[in-house]
Amino acid sequence: MRMFQVCVCGQPLQCNEQPTPTPKGGEVLLKVLAAGVCHSDLHLADGYFDLGGGKKLSLTDRGMKLPVTLGHENVGEVVAVGPEAKGVKVGERMLADPWIGCGTCGPCQRGEDNLCRAMRSLGVFSNGGYADYIMVPDTRYLFDIGNLPPERAAPLACSGVTTYGALKKVPTLKTEPTVIIGAGGLGLMCLALHKMMGGHSAIVVDIDPVKRAAAREAGAAHIVDGAAPDAVQQIVNITNGGAWAAIDLVGSSQSARVGYDSLIKGGKYIMVGLYGGDFTVSLPPIPMRALTIQGSYVGSPSEMGELLDLVRRTGLPPVPVATRPLDDVNAVMDELRAGKVIGRVVLQP
Ligand SMILES: [Zn+2]
Ligand SMILES: [Zn+2]
Repeated sequence: MRMFQVCVCGQPLQCNEQPTPTPKGGEVLLKVLAAGVCHSDLHLADGYFDLGGGKKLSLTDRGMKLPVTLGHENVGEVVAVGPEAKGVKVGERMLADPWIGCGTCGPCQRGEDNLCRAMRSLGVFSNGGYADYIMVPDTRYLFDIGNLPPERAAPLACSGVTTYGALKKVPTLKTEPTVIIGAGGLGLMCLALHKMMGGHSAIVVDIDPVKRAAAREAGAAHIVDGAAPDAVQQIVNITNGGAWAAIDLVGSSQSARVGYDSLIKGGKYIMVGLYGGDFTVSLPPIPMRALTIQGSYVGSPSEMGELLDLVRRTGLPPVPVATRPLDDVNAVMDELRAGKVIGRVVLQP
């Protein structure tokens, strides 16, 4: 089997070959049908996150071992099943939940694999789907997609569950406008799920006019230029005094400023994006204005199940998806880095 791997941080992915593995125990082998390219793949290939102030968070220090095959938004067809794997059959098409914990710690026992401190995430800490085949350690991380097109279902594994998990943290989702910062792949997914979950209305912020236009077309009630000097004031005006919730899918110093500063008393700033940087906040207003700053990291296996139930009820989120051959992976990552991708690019081996 072929697999595209990070071998040296900062270098293009390398195509390596190895014998196709046989599943052991409860493992399941999938033939990859679709693998979405996510912005965080760029950080994984670089090997670090920018912490601001010249500091970096090294991913190899966090447990990423090289070489590793990237690709964490995968749909595949079951081709082989380990002797202890229950509940899946050869030929079924499955979405692989990549956010896999150690299975033994407190959060994992509570079903919150995404809060595990020793995650084994596919395409991050273990081999992912930029390959002909992918091994999934347990059927608990497989979700039947039925007749959904694989390339449209694959982005649910990261971009879908990540924005679903963030939207679930908004108590005022159905009663007040929600600010969504960033209208790239994650932003358009968030906007679509917001609507599918019965959201009141969405104010979408982006610094790129092309992405703002895409958000407008996708049903944003208001769009705001995040680079405008009065971006915060525009949000305060639209919301009659400030936002109850801002979901920041960018996570830069600039986007954090806009999101946090546009909150009303009691409001919640939810950070998802990993662009990097830092920002300074005055402390007394946090208690006096009862503000919440909350991080949101991907989603739990049960949230993945809820998301697929939502999709079965309401249809797939109408996020633009382009397909490309797996061999184009490095070119696609360059295009993503240059900000040229609208919606999602999904690779097909
Ligand atoms: Zn991702
Ligand atoms: Zn764990």
